[in-house]
Amino acid sequence: MLSDEELIHYSRHVILPQIDEQGQEKLSNASVLVVGVGGLGSAVAMYLAASGVGHLYLADFDQVELSNLQRQIIHRIKNLGLNKTLSAKETIGQLNNFIKVSCIEKEITQNNIKEYADKVDLVLDCSDNLKLRLLINKACFELSKPLVSGSAIRFEGQLGVFNLNQQSACYQCIYDGHIQIEESCHERGVLSPLVGTIGTLQATEALKIIMSIGEILDSQLLLYDALNMDFRKLKINKKSDCPVCSKS
Ligand SMILES: [Zn+2]
Repeated sequence: MLSDEELIHYSRHVILPQIDEQGQEKLSNASVLVVGVGGLGSAVAMYLAASGVGHLYLADFDQVELSNLQRQIIHRIKNLGLNKTLSAKETIGQLNNFIKVSCIEKEITQNNIKEYADKVDLVLDCSDNLKLRLLINKACFELSKPLVSGSAIRFEGQLGVFNLNQQSACYQCIYDGHIQIEESCHERGVLSPLVGTIGTLQATEALKIIMSIGEILDSQLLLYDALNMDFRKLKINKKSDCPVCSKS
């Protein structure tokens, strides 16, 4: 049951017939894992927190650096040098006190990913390297946890939902046997609001999955070209020979 104060905090949600008190309670009872509290993770964590998702697990072993502040808007100048999850928890505390935030100040590896993913209803991949993305995907598939994946580099962003149900494609299904060369914004650069756009879309899909409303971007990849303001959607087929999700 939501308190009177919570009903006021979330009143613009509750007034929506698709959400109502029931949907808001689903959000309050939900727990999610956000891997990476950088640019994507900033937008994701801020919106999930403001929306009232009950328990956020934030994972990041990095500290806040000056070069992060161009786009990682959950962090503050005074928190330079602080672990990103602790910095994010502080900002969230000034936004919503009805939710719980757990900080995982560790590198996510194949030795611990399942331990954390197992505690939550869904996982948001806001990480910045392919090896970790594939690791997160495998754990999500094995634990049957929906995965909302986002990435952004230069002027281009991608969003996808995987492992939503048994028929869904997994993130690994995107790749055709050969893995693309890894790129990161450290070397390539990224437009500041691009990470906010993709992170905000990740948060949108996460809320819809939790509340079971609307059309989910299941087994599809949304491609966003910010320079030309172009959005495209691609269907991702579940691959019969996928090393992660195929039955064989
Ligand atoms: Zn697959």
